Amino acid sequence: MKAEAKALREPLPGGGEPGSTVRVEPLLGGSISGPSGFFESRGGRLATLRMLGLGTPRSRWWRVPVPAYLITHPTAGPMLVDTGFHASVAAKPAANLGRLVTRFGRPGIEPGRDIPAQLRERGIDAGGLRTVVLTHLHFDHASGIAEYPDATFVLSKAEWEAATSDPRPFLRGYRPAHYDYLFDYRTIDFDGPGIASYASFGRSFDLFGDGSVRLVYTPGHSAGHCSVVARLRDRDLVIAGDAIYTQAQLEGGNPPPRPLDMHRWRRSLRELQQFARTYPRAEIIPGHDPERWKTVAKGYE
Ligand SMILES: [Zn+2]
Repeated sequence: MKAEAKALREPLPGGGEPGSTVRVEPLLGGSISGPSGFFESRGGRLATLRMLGLGTPRSRWWRVPVPAYLITHPTAGPMLVDTGFHASVAAKPAANLGRLVTRFGRPGIEPGRDIPAQLRERGIDAGGLRTVVLTHLHFDHASGIAEYPDATFVLSKAEWEAATSDPRPFLRGYRPAHYDYLFDYRTIDFDGPGIASYASFGRSFDLFGDGSVRLVYTPGHSAGHCSVVARLRDRDLVIAGDAIYTQAQLEGGNPPPRPLDMHRWRRSLRELQQFARTYPRAEIIPGHDPERWKTVAKGYE
């Protein structure tokens, strides 16, 4: 690895008045297929085989969204949460994602609908974007990092260390080529100072120091997974990332078959569930739920 990360101990510059709110636009950054057992497991001896799709015809696999989120902050400007697939996935998926993922999941992007193109439609140049938060570094969230060379990338220290030190990153969902750049990576130590609780979340980091965008620590799916809480005018929006794949998981349904750490996954789930109970008007968006995605609004403010 040539990439290096620096610790982020203070909020990023550009924050606004306390009480600042943001606009959030969920963007479809591609899609990928998988057997339902890959996302929700009924358990039992056959769980691993079902996860790989054995016994399920491909016609009944799920086609799931690969989201990214554009957040517009009143003073810090536009930022992304996750990258979706790199634009090259539209024409040559194997070059960015590898042959195995391409053959298994048939990842794709609708022509002309890559994330940089969607930013351009909004007058934002991807090459000049200043801030990208990464919920984690799995391939479907980090695939497009190279498209934002000027950005400060913010993620948890635990995630960075896992993804850059794992001897077999591919087996854990990482493709180091996605993030092995001399970019400005900043990592948050959720065991360190400057970490506070927020609502039901035991550990959070206030990204701009004005309460508008918070990373909340939701590990378990991966070593250092974070969700993002954005403050809208009269409620919060939670970008859960892959802490929950589906709405059913938020509501107590079947867990994913093999999170990295099931104990931590359940603890993170409980924090999300408690948040949902306490704030029934909050919008909580799961990572890869095709039905829930259809109900997501174009923009929230
Ligand atoms: Zn994912």
